[in-house]
Amino acid sequence: MNLRSNSNILENVKLLGKSELNSKKITQNVATEVHVPPAKKIRKKIVVQAADENARASTSKEEVQVSSWKPGNWPKTLQNIREMRKNRDAPVDVMGCEKHGDFIGTEKDRRFHILVSLMLSSQTRDQVTDAAMRKLKTDIPGGLTVENLLKLDDGVLGKLIYPVGFWKKKVLYLKRVAEILRDQYDGDIPQDLAGLCMLPGVGPKMAHLCMDIAWGSLTGIGVDTHVHRIANRLGWTPKVTKVPEETRKALEEWMPRDLWREINWLLVGFGQQICLPIGPKCGSCLNATICPYAKGEVKLESPRKKKKLVE
Ligand code: SF4
Repeated sequence: MNLRSNSNILENVKLLGKSELNSKKITQNVATEVHVPPAKKIRKKIVVQAADENARASTSKEEVQVSSWKPGNWPKTLQNIREMRKNRDAPVDVMGCEKHGDFIGTEKDRRFHILVSLMLSSQTRDQVTDAAMRKLKTDIPGGLTVENLLKLDDGVLGKLIYPVGFWKKKVLYLKRVAEILRDQYDGDIPQDLAGLCMLPGVGPKMAHLCMDIAWGSLTGIGVDTHVHRIANRLGWTPKVTKVPEETRKALEEWMPRDLWREINWLLVGFGQQICLPIGPKCGSCLNATICPYAKGEVKLESPRKKKKLVE
């Protein structure tokens, strides 16, 4: 994260008056509790852990590796997952959000496509997100841009993105986000975690992935439901975690930073093909003999639970 990003965060802190600065790590982390003002009945309260990439990259080993705890067998487990994922033929490999920025247009529009794709992908299969993005790109007069989206009737937008999960709510979020981008970011997307997380319908997982895919800035591990579930099954957290954000923090405590970018892609595809939410294919998994979940050492709640929109 550059100086401008830190400046933005600190400015947000100042303006909102709801934040706490960690004085020991002020150059590395800024913990910001952000309250978004009510806008068209969309309210949001979030906690953002913003990491300064450049600062962290240059810090000493002791500062990055803040925990000495590491899961047993993790290098072997990771190697096995890489082996099982070597064909790169999971839905995420051909329809992941980073695929939706590949078009001829401005850099701003490319980043907007990635943000929209991430917003649609929450609680939605990659195939459905991909179909919706294709329709948005081809059926919106003039193409998918901030201005063109704002001109679109809500009903038409709903038909274009249906049946993505929570599509009615996402119509409202997309419209509100487009307004914010037009009014506050000159039609671009925010270039920092705090700014992204302040957008309606955008949570930490999306923000970290967006920073990486849209801006090329690695700020944290993108932990979705696949990464959250598999990390717990593999015992990659010191204790069972309840939500993806808790899992992200636990993983970042021990996992070498050079794996952060790879791990989302690796585990999402692994979760789509083998370590399924319900009925994981342990019989054909290379990790069956070392996996705590397969050996009955880890008990987890059923994934059949109430869905949450923002990740
Ligand atoms: S053994 Fe089963 S639970 Fe463990 S990683 Fe493999 S598929 Fe998932």
